[in-house]
Amino acid sequence: MAGNFRTLDDVDVKGQRVLLRVDLNVPMENGHVSDATRLERVAPTINEIATKGGKVILLAHFGRPKGRDAKDSLKPVAAALSQVIKRPVAFADDCIGEPAATAIAAMKDGDVLCLENTRFHKEEEKNDPAFVGELAKLGDIWVNDAFSAAHRAHASTEGLGHKLPAYAGRTMQAELDALDKALGRPAKPVIAIVGGAKVSTKIDLLENLVTKVDALVIGGGMANTFLHAQGVQIGKSLAEKDLAATALRIMEKAESSNCAIILPVDATVSFHFAANSPSFAYGLDAIPPDSMILDVGPQSTARIHSAIDDAATLVWNGPLGAFELTPFDRGTMVAAKHAAERTKAKKLISVAGGGDTVAALNQAGVAGDFSYVSTAGGAFLEWMEGKPLPGVEVLKA
Ligand code: AMP
Repeated sequence: MAGNFRTLDDVDVKGQRVLLRVDLNVPMENGHVSDATRLERVAPTINEIATKGGKVILLAHFGRPKGRDAKDSLKPVAAALSQVIKRPVAFADDCIGEPAATAIAAMKDGDVLCLENTRFHKEEEKNDPAFVGELAKLGDIWVNDAFSAAHRAHASTEGLGHKLPAYAGRTMQAELDALDKALGRPAKPVIAIVGGAKVSTKIDLLENLVTKVDALVIGGGMANTFLHAQGVQIGKSLAEKDLAATALRIMEKAESSNCAIILPVDATVSFHFAANSPSFAYGLDAIPPDSMILDVGPQSTARIHSAIDDAATLVWNGPLGAFELTPFDRGTMVAAKHAAERTKAKKLISVAGGGDTVAALNQAGVAGDFSYVSTAGGAFLEWMEGKPLPGVEVLKA
């Protein structure tokens, strides 16, 4: 048992029908998989179970179909998966009933079968007990390897865990271990960097982090709301002025939890929201009324640099500025590269996640140098908010 959840180390899969929940929600262009990252991520678990003689029966959703819809079939994904895992992957046209049962009856030990999109049945998202029962009939054990879907209590992501012996797959295990190192039982001191456009989407996240970390760096558009709340004139910057009281409440909570809040001390501003528009560094007392803050300023960048030096663990979500537009990517790029250097030097455990954050780390060319980068999106954010994830809770012993 790893941590407090069951893994593939706790079960002999030989000869067993293993219902394996995976994330096959890959981007497609013209009927072909355009990015196979998610398939590569689930390959180790599939290969391990197959090599040990288990019958691998893949369960996954694809897209958001309302009922059966050919454009959301998993059939082309199963073909692409076969290329990645270098094994044949059979396909059944339905995830329950006669098509699934017949295909499974034909399996030999070590075979891999992909069942059709679970969301072709509306009962999947309802976690409908009868549907869970239909799925459970098809397997002897359930292995959940889809962390990215673990914030949803659906039939294949949660319900099955109450019907069959439940285990974490290797990808799930790696994600949970990395997250545990970041916020569960981290090496101290811990800092979080939170950026992005808005406070409103990250209130729960900020409220949870201030109780868990030693220092919280706030950047991006959301820092403007905090600066405004403190009386700084922020010109035409993106901000949610109606959330000033929320910002102050978060700062008070941080103070009572002994969490240092690190806000920008200067700003990189521009008069146009456009790439390569002229940029200027200003102190917070001198921001021109018709300008916009588009990045943290040079002194703030230096401050964040030294905060990273002081930390043993870093958790990061959200860019520090409008990183899609040069030169307003600078604060984010400098911090990303520095965190990567510290990680490579074994001075820092660095965990990052969220769509824009992954894009920013890729832009900096350092995603591979972080200790762990989560591509899980919603599930990663809910974890950062401190919420229990149903698909993980059900794996606990
Ligand atoms: P989020 O999805 O909340 O993580 O926000 C990411 C977006 O915030 C990115 O598209 C950034 O360009 C944007 N952003 C970050 N800082 C600023 C800023 N100072 N002004 C405007 N947009 C920003």
